[in-house]
Amino acid sequence: MSLPNDNGQYVRRVVLPSGRSIEVVYFEPLAIEAGVKPTPLLDDLHICPECDRDLVYPVEWQEASVTHWEVLLRCPNCEWSELGVYDQATVDRFDETLDDGTEALVRDLRRLVQANMEEEAQRFAAALAADAILPEDF
Ligand SMILES: [Zn+2]
Repeated sequence: MSLPNDNGQYVRRVVLPSGRSIEVVYFEPLAIEAGVKPTPLLDDLHICPECDRDLVYPVEWQEASVTHWEVLLRCPNCEWSELGVYDQATVDRFDETLDDGTEALVRDLRRLVQANMEEEAQRFAAALAADAILPEDF
């Protein structure tokens, strides 16, 4: 087992074959460069660890190294926010989830626009039928 300390280093206790145990310090250069502690892997970055809603989105992200991204996350529901370093696979998954969310939003918007147009057309038809619309209205 290893635990990060305040300097972003990992200390691991290793028991040697002789029975003597030593502490091995692991440096995490990526995290030190980025100025943040390595964040434990989260499978789903879009799920808020505070309120469990699936609304978390990236405020900004940038390459932290060849294999990792530094991402500032924010939950609009509870205002949870965190700067973390995540591997490429995790960020790719997050990106796909965000794309799905965008598609769902566009679908909802189209439905809403269509529903509004239908309602407007029905009102217009009802007004025409009631002779409430006259040529001088145009
Ligand atoms: Zn939240």
